Amino acid sequence: MKIADKNTKAVDLVREALAKAKQFEDYHCFISMNEACALEKAREIDEKIAKGEKVGRLAGVPYALKDNYLSPEGVTTAAAKMLDNFPSPITATAVKRIEDEGAIMIGRTNLDAYAHGSSTENSYFGPTCNAVDKERVAGGSSGGSAVATALGIVEFALGSDTGGSIRQPASFNGVYGIKPTYGTVSRYGVVAMASSTDTMGCFAKNAEDVNLVMDIMAGKDEKDSTTLEKFWKDDLPDPKGKKIGIITDFMGDGVDKEVVECVKKYAEKLKKAGYEVEEISIPMLKYGLAIYYIVQPAEVASNLSRYDGIRYGFRSNNITDLDSVYQETRNEGFMPENKRRILIGNYVLSSGYFDAYYLKAQKARTLLINAYKDAFKKVDALLCPVAPAPAFKFGEKINDPLAMYMEDVMSVPQSMAGLPSISVPAGTTKTGLPVGAQLSGWRGSDQLLLAIAQSVEGVD
Ligand code: GLN
Repeated sequence: MKIADKNTKAVDLVREALAKAKQFEDYHCFISMNEACALEKAREIDEKIAKGEKVGRLAGVPYALKDNYLSPEGVTTAAAKMLDNFPSPITATAVKRIEDEGAIMIGRTNLDAYAHGSSTENSYFGPTCNAVDKERVAGGSSGGSAVATALGIVEFALGSDTGGSIRQPASFNGVYGIKPTYGTVSRYGVVAMASSTDTMGCFAKNAEDVNLVMDIMAGKDEKDSTTLEKFWKDDLPDPKGKKIGIITDFMGDGVDKEVVECVKKYAEKLKKAGYEVEEISIPMLKYGLAIYYIVQPAEVASNLSRYDGIRYGFRSNNITDLDSVYQETRNEGFMPENKRRILIGNYVLSSGYFDAYYLKAQKARTLLINAYKDAFKKVDALLCPVAPAPAFKFGEKINDPLAMYMEDVMSVPQSMAGLPSISVPAGTTKTGLPVGAQLSGWRGSDQLLLAIAQSVEGVD
């Protein structure tokens, strides 16, 4: 990562990033730019360096911020009409931590509204193009951040991952993406989706950069009681002799052949690097998607109830009485996918159906966690694809919610269990579309996964 010092000016780094953002404007990675603020901050850092003062570990490094992280610079929209003009009074802890180390936000990236989706087509501001093929989706929900990193506009970008929103777009665009162990990075100041699986992570081009950004963001935050004591260390651990299980349940029917080939090739690389790779079946994983699409909408419905047209954000002009304040505001302010989740969520939480759906899903969630526990008695890390196929074309799945939800089948089980997972570039299809391999581990093994990925970075 290029960091400002005596020879490299922060202002030049920021100008370069802004120029690239302009060059790739038609990909629509950004919802808004932060040019004036970014240049001002860069000048301050350059002055400090000139005076010989100490600067942070990310001094002058331009980065892109998923537009669901709150920061007083500009507005935080979560790509929703509901927050179209919402200036935040607070700063997300993750943002504060990286900016205290000198990172400079050049713009806010596009996402599916409220992070609901797998393509970034659910954005109120229109979709983001895939970095490799402009007729295809960026993946989602952190599509803008993934593409901004893949195009080299920034060297790292922040994302959020509730069920795959960092890993899947990382896979679709050929960059690294990490969803850390639940509780690693504070959720404070990030627009809530499903609070029991929301995790904050990042995109970068290699394991080393991911490690640096995560090291800075990780750790206890008194503003988020679910954060863990910091377990992240400066350096990656030695991964030698670790055993990796390739999940056979996700390598067969329903998975694109070229995706399977790429992941198999990645397994070969791991073997060449000296790891023991064996096949493992975890039948319980196939229920992950069903569990997720009950628990997650339930939490979404609760979290989105705060947008009522009264407290903050958008309020409809179409108001005739008190009920219409809520009804019209929520009708106009939410995207169809947001509404679908609110409806499903309230349904599974309703007194008549709570036991049959929500409670049952939570019980199944425990079984899923136990299945992972058993698997990690046999292997240190698991390998599988990130998604069943490479990036799809615009419009292909947006009107078929179940097809879109299937995108998440290999990424939500880890989310339900709070496990760390990373998406690593594993090759391309014959037509050049990137394919990622997904490495997952038990809670707290985040850096081991990065170390394994790093150790095969140079292997052919
Ligand atoms: N694609 C998944 C969903 O739509 C995951 C979203 C996310 O991780 N924010 O729920």
